[in-house]
Amino acid sequence: MSDLSNLYQDLILDHNASPRNFGELDCPTHRKEGSNPLCGDNLVLSLRVEDDIIVDVRFSGSGCAISKASASLMTAALKGKTIGEAEALFASFKDLLTSLEPSPASANQLGKLAAFSGVRQFPSRVKCATLAWHTLEAALHANDVASTE
Ligand code: ZN
Repeated sequence: MSDLSNLYQDLILDHNASPRNFGELDCPTHRKEGSNPLCGDNLVLSLRVEDDIIVDVRFSGSGCAISKASASLMTAALKGKTIGEAEALFASFKDLLTSLEPSPASANQLGKLAAFSGVRQFPSRVKCATLAWHTLEAALHANDVASTE
């Protein structure tokens, strides 16, 4: 088990040190800012959606290692997914982090994103890990401001 947690931790550290898809898209179809005031995490998510498929997605901003790594892994996971698939991923991610008894299917569906399962032991960090996802949801549904509050 400790090997597995080390692996997961390495993945989070790696994505924090070299975030994937960092920056902003030139012509996004969706763009949203999100913040987690409890920790001071801020990010801007920009997406290009064509025919219900997320063809490109980037994030920028600043925040703690968990928020950055989560945004990085999220953007990597979202490319090529339909909006429905993206929302299903978010539901599984939330389930894994916040349910008393997460469904084993959630972890299976999440792949690398399951690296954040250890965060569930630290409720204050759950908001860091879900910020990018809340921002995604707000971007897709054109909510005013994304916030973990
Ligand atoms: Zn944070």
